[in-house]
Amino acid sequence: MCVVAVETENLEFWRLEMIEVEQVVKYGEMGLYCFPIHSVVNGVCTCGRTDCRRAGKHPRDVAYKSKASNDAAKIRKLFRPYSLTNAGFIAGRKSDIFVVDVDGEEGQKSLAELEAKHSPLPMTRTVTSGRGYHLWFKYPSTGTVRPGREIAHKVDVRGEGDAVMLPGSIHVNGKVYAVKDESVAIATAPGWLLDKVTREDVTGAIPEGKRSRTVYKEACALFRAGQTREQVCQLIHALNSSRCNPPLPDEKINAILEKVEQEFDPDFVKKEIERPARLPWFKLSAEEVLTSMDGQSLTDYELGQRIRLLSTAWINGGKLTSDIDALARIAHASDVEAFKANWKRILYGFRPCGKKELINEGMAAEHGGLQVIIGKRREAAHIAQVRKAKKHADSLWASLPTEGRAA
Ligand SMILES: [Zn+2]
Repeated sequence: MCVVAVETENLEFWRLEMIEVEQVVKYGEMGLYCFPIHSVVNGVCTCGRTDCRRAGKHPRDVAYKSKASNDAAKIRKLFRPYSLTNAGFIAGRKSDIFVVDVDGEEGQKSLAELEAKHSPLPMTRTVTSGRGYHLWFKYPSTGTVRPGREIAHKVDVRGEGDAVMLPGSIHVNGKVYAVKDESVAIATAPGWLLDKVTREDVTGAIPEGKRSRTVYKEACALFRAGQTREQVCQLIHALNSSRCNPPLPDEKINAILEKVEQEFDPDFVKKEIERPARLPWFKLSAEEVLTSMDGQSLTDYELGQRIRLLSTAWINGGKLTSDIDALARIAHASDVEAFKANWKRILYGFRPCGKKELINEGMAAEHGGLQVIIGKRREAAHIAQVRKAKKHADSLWASLPTEGRAA
């Protein structure tokens, strides 16, 4: 572990001080889920923003939670792209650790007050940080340590899913995160601390402040799952009386149900599936432009006009207006008279369609085909969504004390 304070701006020296991937692998072997974090090089965060507010402290990859690993090979692969980097791990049940983050002298003071009130914390693995230190504790066997919770002034808990800096990383102020005493093991937290930081894993209780929104969302989901009005009413009232703490008055529940019913459009899904998809690109066949007589006869200027017109036609499913003045505007033709003389040559592949339109059959077919494919995908996604909603409705029926299932 490196504990040399870094005071140089020399890049090579920084490189020596950065965490070695094999150090990270050792933490992986301890069971910690590790991932790369940005570092500070010559005073600037490696994310490149000179005004980065979390310089040297934020993950390299937005998907760090899913990519973090305790597997040696995976850690080496995760860290391979970076010659200079800080590192972190995910606190929580997977890594079997939660952390108390004591910030500066103020944090030490308020932690001392807590210990005086309850009992002193046991000796445990301690890592010095930028201004204070981190106390590592074994994750409790039951309950969840709430993430990002302040338990006293300047004393935070890093719980389920929170990112924590690994020893060997360097703070923006140049201090190295370092283990104080390697011989001290990770301790079990005392009961008073666990009481402050954990919540029981009971699902379902809906507290004040969340009741209306939860009821509203559940009612929407039930309608979407194809439940009848009576079924939704019965389930929602059962949900309210058994889970809402305290239950909302019946009038309030009825008002919510009425609102959902009014808003719920049975044709919503059909409209959603049939809504034309925006296709912001189209295939411009280079081969066709280069080899066809029509394409070859165009000047660069005319080819530019053609591409503008093709882009507009694509958005409209292969169709264009046949109004020549409008076409000249769409093509951004600076010489309108020249455009009017040449537009048929420029728009080869289009033919009149009705009185007011031109159509490019190939483009119309391709556009239509893609819309069909997208519609099918939307439909499949919708079927999966309904299946999920039905499962949810079934579990509600099973878990709530409803008096017999409505037909
Ligand atoms: Zn940054």
